[in-house]
Amino acid sequence: MPEQQILRVAVPAPLYHCFDYLPPADVDIERLVPGVRLRVPFGRGERCAVLLEVVTTAEMDGRRLKRALAVLDATPLFTPSDLSLLNWAAGYYQHPIGEVVANALPVRLRKGEAPVSVLQKTWSLTPCGRLQDPSALRRAPKQAELLALLQVSPGQRLTQEQLQQCGTYRQTLQVLQQKGWIESGGGMPEAAPRPSPSASPPLNTDQQHAVNAVELGQFGTYLLDGVTGSGKTEVYLALVERVLASGRQALVLVPEIGLTPQLIRRFERRLGMGLAILHSGLAEGERERAWHLARLGQASVVLGTRSALLTPMPRLGLIVVDEEHDLSFKQQDGFRYSARDLAVIRAQRSDCPAMLGSATPSLETLQNARSGRYQHLHLTRRAGDAQPARMDLLDIRSVRLEAGLSPLLIQMLRQTLDAGNQALLFINRRGYAPIMTCHACGWVAQCRRCDARLTLHAASRLLWCHHCGSQRRQDDKCPECGDTDLRTLGQGTERVEEVLANWFPDVGIARIDRDTTRRKGSLDQLLNGIRNGKYSLLLGTQMLAKGHHFPNVTLVGILDVDQGLFGADFRAAERMAQLIVQVAGRAGRAEKPGRVLIQTRHPDHPMMQRLVRQGYAAFASDMLEEREAAAFPPFSYQALLRAEAPQESAPREFLEQAYALAETLSTGQVELWGPVPAPMERRAGRFRAHLLLQADQRVELQRLLARWVNQLATLKSARRVRWSIDVDPQEMF
Ligand code: ADP
Ligand code: ZN
Ligand code: ZN
Repeated sequence: MPEQQILRVAVPAPLYHCFDYLPPADVDIERLVPGVRLRVPFGRGERCAVLLEVVTTAEMDGRRLKRALAVLDATPLFTPSDLSLLNWAAGYYQHPIGEVVANALPVRLRKGEAPVSVLQKTWSLTPCGRLQDPSALRRAPKQAELLALLQVSPGQRLTQEQLQQCGTYRQTLQVLQQKGWIESGGGMPEAAPRPSPSASPPLNTDQQHAVNAVELGQFGTYLLDGVTGSGKTEVYLALVERVLASGRQALVLVPEIGLTPQLIRRFERRLGMGLAILHSGLAEGERERAWHLARLGQASVVLGTRSALLTPMPRLGLIVVDEEHDLSFKQQDGFRYSARDLAVIRAQRSDCPAMLGSATPSLETLQNARSGRYQHLHLTRRAGDAQPARMDLLDIRSVRLEAGLSPLLIQMLRQTLDAGNQALLFINRRGYAPIMTCHACGWVAQCRRCDARLTLHAASRLLWCHHCGSQRRQDDKCPECGDTDLRTLGQGTERVEEVLANWFPDVGIARIDRDTTRRKGSLDQLLNGIRNGKYSLLLGTQMLAKGHHFPNVTLVGILDVDQGLFGADFRAAERMAQLIVQVAGRAGRAEKPGRVLIQTRHPDHPMMQRLVRQGYAAFASDMLEEREAAAFPPFSYQALLRAEAPQESAPREFLEQAYALAETLSTGQVELWGPVPAPMERRAGRFRAHLLLQADQRVELQRLLARWVNQLATLKSARRVRWSIDVDPQEMF
């Protein structure tokens, strides 16, 4: 009797184990390859699951196994190595394997739908077209270019999309088709032809050194530590070109906001065809097609945000994580993985290098570089002739501010604009004002569902909670006493824009925050307007601080970052410094020298002084000392158990039971802190609390978590809360 085949599958469900099924009836055994999707009965319904392995003994008694209903894919979507990475991640981040695997799939595939077709309209040379000499078409350069391009392409065939990326017009295609030199068809895009290296600027010595230091074809992690504008992106591009030349693929991750059309175009221009873009702004079908092209090895470069890390790539030869310090690499709900950390693990398993780049590396990464685990590469100068910006603190303790701006800053703005340059103001808050209050009785507009104030958005006349998203119409009179003397305190971007428009009526102002960029394409429009000089005064939130290149900005004003000096979170100062340096990095990126003014009420604070006088590296070095003395990460390892519920007592009860359970399992190597209420205890109508675990050794923490987490669900009090575990948490709420 042949041995029984049992399918071990990952079913998307909040359960920490795999499930066993019998093969579907009448299925060809050959089709049961790990990585294909299966439709399986689950509970009272059906789920789309992924086959992990085929085994011969079930974990349960074989006769009770249910039969899978169908195999959904002809070929596996994941390779065994992809599955093993996902399995590792599920274990490390203590997240159910089924949900981790589902997370790695494009949305439609998660739902069990058939994969989108990757076949595309293609253009190829006809026998007659092959005989034409492009140089004979001197008077039609576009046609000559197209002809030449097709002649050197593998198979003498390219997709319409590839051709368009290379600047071919539809019209040119039509003309050549009429001449009978090219014909259209449908098919797989061919592997992309090599990009022409002519487009790259000659690298400077630092850049060259960084490129040469990276050993392709083997695992190694590199920290590319380079001030803003030092040409990190050129280093990535040079490495990507080398990887492509060796026939392998490259994966480039950028932060959520960093994936601007500007950056995409830069990559397209340099790498030409074979680039797949993956981010959440794409239509589902488009995104899935790019995913398949990468998976099939047809796309040689994947450029994307966090989730692109999990894209299957059969010939992976390099992973780049740009702005590695950025918080958006850590998923903050569900499967709470860090794409940066997982990138290093993936590179290790793929025998390829990982490069983490930043002007303000995270302390975790810096410590890894110090200990020699990562190779530290420096770009010390700005590329070209650009000079570093001069940074100064502006003491606002005894100064009358107008809309948050000191008279000196206003004067500097005027000088900058009069000289025909651009100025940028950073404000950490959107909306009009963070506080709306009644002058008669002292009432303050509060969110009904959160321990938070409502922010006034004047243009839409709404009071908006930035924590739960609830909104209501702005009050005309005080809901408490009926008085009409309602006033605002503080300012957000909207208010600053209003006063700037009064002071500088003839100046174009670009406000960049989540409110002004909600519409698709609006950010691109604003950025274009900044580049072509339509706007001279730029103001905005973090969105403005990231990755952009504004050659004519010579003055940067930073309004309120003081809270970073005293934040409750031990990472607050690190984040403040990163923000300041990143915003400052927008100034003076071309020939013109830049100036940065930081308004502060604590000009003598040693941290501020250190950052402004000696720079980020010196500041980070101080911070690492502090962290080491306090035994905080990166000198220890943490996990956070969060719980929330509509009843005030429920999270605490659950966390106390969880605490007791951990104590019974612990070997004493893991410290438990809490439970404590979250910094904002009530959010969206739920009370929140957490328990922090910390250990000197990662393995100790992992050992406890592995035994603890799957027992948490069995606690009685777990039923009354929503709980989640966050390994290597980045934020304490
Ligand atoms: P980063 O990624 O470090 O912020 P970029 O790679 O965007 O820096 O480079 C900043 C600017 O300097 C860009 O306009 C880029 O084209 C230019 N640049 C980079 N490297 C060189 C070089 N070797 N020679 C001339 N210009 C360069
Ligand atoms: Zn009142
Ligand atoms: Zn709220």
